[in-house]
Amino acid sequence: MPDQPHPSTSSTATGTNPTTIGAAASSAQKTEKHVVVIGAGLSGLTAAYELQEAAKKAGATLRLTVLESRSRIGGAIWTEKIDGFLCEGGADSFITNKPWALQLCHRLGLADEMIGTDQRNRRSFVLRDRQILPVPEGFVLMAPSRMWPILISPILSWKAKLRMMIEPFIPRGDANADESLASFVRRRLGNETLERLVQPLVGGIYTADPNDLSLRATMPQFIQMEQKHGSLLRASLFKRKSGNDVEKSSSGARYGLFATLKAGMGRLIEALAQSLPKETIQLNTAVRRVQKGPDGQGWTIDLLDGPSITADGLVLATEAHASARLMDEYDPELARLLRSIPYASSAIALIGYDRDKIKHPLNGFGLVIPATEKRKTLAISFTSVKLPDRAPAGKVLLRVFVGGATQPELFDLPDDEIEKIAITEVQELLGAEGPPCLYRLARHTRAMPQYTIGHQERVQQISDQLATHTGLTIASNALSGVGVPDCVRTGQIAVEKLLKQLVFLNKY
Ligand SMILES: Cc1cc2nc3c(=O)[nH]c(=O)nc-3n(C[C@H](O)[C@H](O)[C@H](O)COP(=O)(O)OP(=O)(O)OC[C@H]3O[C@@H](n4cnc5c(N)ncnc54)[C@H](O)[C@@H]3O)c2cc1C
Repeated sequence: MPDQPHPSTSSTATGTNPTTIGAAASSAQKTEKHVVVIGAGLSGLTAAYELQEAAKKAGATLRLTVLESRSRIGGAIWTEKIDGFLCEGGADSFITNKPWALQLCHRLGLADEMIGTDQRNRRSFVLRDRQILPVPEGFVLMAPSRMWPILISPILSWKAKLRMMIEPFIPRGDANADESLASFVRRRLGNETLERLVQPLVGGIYTADPNDLSLRATMPQFIQMEQKHGSLLRASLFKRKSGNDVEKSSSGARYGLFATLKAGMGRLIEALAQSLPKETIQLNTAVRRVQKGPDGQGWTIDLLDGPSITADGLVLATEAHASARLMDEYDPELARLLRSIPYASSAIALIGYDRDKIKHPLNGFGLVIPATEKRKTLAISFTSVKLPDRAPAGKVLLRVFVGGATQPELFDLPDDEIEKIAITEVQELLGAEGPPCLYRLARHTRAMPQYTIGHQERVQQISDQLATHTGLTIASNALSGVGVPDCVRTGQIAVEKLLKQLVFLNKY
């Protein structure tokens, strides 16, 4: 995808022109400090924004520099308007029950630009034996809140339905165990429910194998449901009776809780960048390594190309494996820990069709595909049904997900082979006729961290090791959540930690 030029970015690779925040009193000039954020994805840009806000609040003067190796900002998020289609190469919406992204949008003045998912067709489909079937109403991620829709659904066999009915009688598991998501679902709901419903619904979020995912690190709410109510069914029933179930009529994901921006997720990235002083962000500026400064106080940031930069504070906002490379020489133990977080790669094929060229009614938000179906796609999102104004009148926009932790060999194929796969899947599964009117491929190489068993211990060890350094923090989707709100939060937490250490800003 082409790059997105931005008024707050500079394409010079010198890194020597960071901007002073002018709002501060002139006496503060003496104490001016320099903070560098490496990585201009959502986590890094949020950290930069929060640093600037904190400096303003404290009346302190701060030089802020954001270094980004690519020629565009946004990392795993980018939006592009192509031939009237609004194409999201990465995240297309975010959940609002974790409030941080929504709050950030409000603080950035984007409240009027927020939109929700279309109220019609709030459901997902799942493939079974090449048939597209609706996920039973009330079955959200891995908790059935209504039995009748499950009992009449052809997705599960009678044996699986009976197995689900005995769920309230299954004893609680060990609350302290680091159980895999697959093991938990197998234990509570049975193997068929795992394979036919939960694996495609949940696996898709993390592009992961649920046999490896740590439930504690990814969806701890289900452990709480089990521990508090002794059963997922009972817990869901309790939620419905107490009127807390905002999702009683949707199925699959919790669609009523999702929001985005009219102009797409790239608007959030753009607003964050625009809030920063001009030329704060240095594009095409890859960092090679990070070392302690010559006086043992600050940090020296060596670039792949260009003079080194010194900083008083440093936020690593790159993928964990990239941060590991930066720290290899200075702190090999931190590098080792960061590298121990595995990553998966995935590709999104954006495909536009004339509406009348697709036989399926597209009366849902998308189709998820169980691994047992042995197809070459993980899911197909009906993007223009889910969100308004994503396709011109009379056309539809689909997003086909390929690769992930379970099919890495497909991600490794050349672009033209992925194109063939994605279009063939849409033709075979949804009855699309002929070639599409729009095709774009978005590749995400090692962009999705996998929260495997032991993840929380790894994160704790990283945090302990980081605590041995002053003026160094990490903001990343590899730590405590991969979603958009989690990335906003990790940027905020990183800044809170840095501020505690860099007393100069900690005046409020
Ligand atoms: C395909 C996909 C779909 C997703 N869909 C959703 C969704 O619908 N909803 C949702 O809530 N979440 C979604 N997510 C998750 C969410 O979008 C990401 O977790 C988030 O955008 C990651 O932000 P980040 O800043 O932590 O990392 P990144 O976006 O990966 O940013 C890291 C940045 O660091 C830069 N960098 C790396 N090395 C260096 C270096 N040496 N020097 C300088 N810069 C460097 C990179 O170029 C990159 O720009 C999705 C993720 C993916 C991959």
